[in-house]
Amino acid sequence: MCGIVGYIGTEQAAPIILDGLARLEYRGYDSAGIAVYNGQDIQITKSVGRLKVLEELTHGGATMPGCIGIGHTRWATHGAPSQVNAHPHFNKEITVAVVHNGIIENYIQLRNRLSKRGYEFVSETDTEVVAHMLDYYYTGDPLETIAKVLHRIEGSYALGVIFASHPDELFAARKDSPLIVGQKENGCFIASDVPAILRYTRKVYYMENQEIVRLKKDSLNFYNFDEEEISKESVTIEWDANAAEKGGYEHFMLKEMYEQPKTVTDTLLPRFKDNKIEIEELGMTDEEMKEIKKIHIVACGSAYHAGMTGKYVLEGLARIPVEIDLASEFRYRNPILEEGAMVMVISQSGETADTLAALRESQERGFKVLGIVNVVGSSIAREADNVMYTWAGPEIAVATTKAYSAQLIALYLLAMKFAEVRGTVSAEVLEEMKEDLKKLPDQIEMLLNNKERIQRFANRYIGAKDVFFIGRGIDYAISLEGSLKLKEISYIHSEAYAAGELKHGTISLIEEGTLVTAVATQQDLFAKTVSNIVEVKARGAFVLAVTNEGNTEIEKAADYVIYLPQTNSYFTNSLAIIPLQLFGYYVAVGKGCDVDKPRNLAKSVTVE
Ligand code: GLU
Repeated sequence: MCGIVGYIGTEQAAPIILDGLARLEYRGYDSAGIAVYNGQDIQITKSVGRLKVLEELTHGGATMPGCIGIGHTRWATHGAPSQVNAHPHFNKEITVAVVHNGIIENYIQLRNRLSKRGYEFVSETDTEVVAHMLDYYYTGDPLETIAKVLHRIEGSYALGVIFASHPDELFAARKDSPLIVGQKENGCFIASDVPAILRYTRKVYYMENQEIVRLKKDSLNFYNFDEEEISKESVTIEWDANAAEKGGYEHFMLKEMYEQPKTVTDTLLPRFKDNKIEIEELGMTDEEMKEIKKIHIVACGSAYHAGMTGKYVLEGLARIPVEIDLASEFRYRNPILEEGAMVMVISQSGETADTLAALRESQERGFKVLGIVNVVGSSIAREADNVMYTWAGPEIAVATTKAYSAQLIALYLLAMKFAEVRGTVSAEVLEEMKEDLKKLPDQIEMLLNNKERIQRFANRYIGAKDVFFIGRGIDYAISLEGSLKLKEISYIHSEAYAAGELKHGTISLIEEGTLVTAVATQQDLFAKTVSNIVEVKARGAFVLAVTNEGNTEIEKAADYVIYLPQTNSYFTNSLAIIPLQLFGYYVAVGKGCDVDKPRNLAKSVTVE
């Protein structure tokens, strides 16, 4: 989620590293830092905020002499964005420096162990343990030392390491976080992504999981974690830097849609301990969970739609009444918060002004607030009493896709936890639900891989004037989000209606050929929604239906059907949203809209 760049060669390292980091800015970051061996010591400079600050501090790298170094743009996962938490991290004597992308999952145990051995920690990051472990296990042989450390750390990482004792060698290793190696005459590079080094070379090696590389100015050696040398083939990069940034995808939005299986896994797995759902961040005892009388969910935009799904899921599973509010309304409507109420606010950026105000309003009235937030260290993350992070990584496209999907997962987990503690769902059913949750990433991937079908369909609606989305229950919540996706990026007017509500007015807008997207994933409401499809068909609508596999009878009523794989009825939103996102995306692409930056919109709405 962040950017790593490293260089060893005959030229000054710092300017090359800063230039590389600038080309990785698209990945999103909150702070940056660089470490260079200057012939005597490892010199480290870090700063919070834009890379420009680091560039100014170092005069474009000029104040950091030396031909070997590593740099990092951080996207905080453990510890707020701050100067001490920025990378590189180092040991006490600053004889080793490390940059890291990913999460060290067992860092608490490692940190405790190192503390007992007298190591002092200066940051709140998970990464700092790696620096101290490299110190603790140092044998004089960097490769051996790194291998020892890697055998003891769990999680995901791309690492870049330099040792003051070996100033002619740079090391890097990878497991589950991207890392590439580049080579040119008189210089080698590491980077999180190709654009960082494309100015210097097109000869690239892709690091695979559990591989280590030793870079010298004129040689590269690759090893597995058992320190056995392995051979790797280089590839010649043919694409231009622009395409590379998006990983070959045409837009960030498409790339981020494709990241959803990973996002769902990343939000899900840390909360599963021995197949039990543990949400430590909730900060509530079982007793407290039992005593909750009402939940208020407050959010804006897509987060509000996720909250709407959350309402159905929490009420259905945990039998807790849920009130859902738009933050801009909640803050001014003098809401009634009664004893036993809990407030949840949802925001990708954690900076949404209205949501932040709603949080403060609730706290002023003496209520604790749980923040469901994507950006670590953001205002909501700092001010909420408890924070549950959605590990979606930086989202660049203005229209949210993966962060929304992660919010849904967070809400499912909360609902299941409450249901378990309050005994409102049997253990057996909960077990089945857990299995269904784990299948979601593969199912989402399958739906994404069927994108051509939606693309073909979307091409027919580039000229549409109005589009309607209908559904009942959870399907209504999905419809709201599907409709928003379409209108925000394609500028086609669209509205979502609870399917039973359409005939109370809006049906008068249906004309010959009007597209109506009907979502029918709730088996108990299936027949009802089909009736509503028939109603709009009778007025000339063209109906795209999204339903579960096996519901083939819908083909009698609808014109075009998309089937979703089987999952628990509370989770269908996670699947149904995929074709709807793809539909909005391809209509917008077909119309030639600026998909990643739609007009009049900002990614993070920090004003009222
Ligand atoms: N987990 C590390 C941190 O919070 C690395 C984050 C990143 O990938 O930027 O510092």
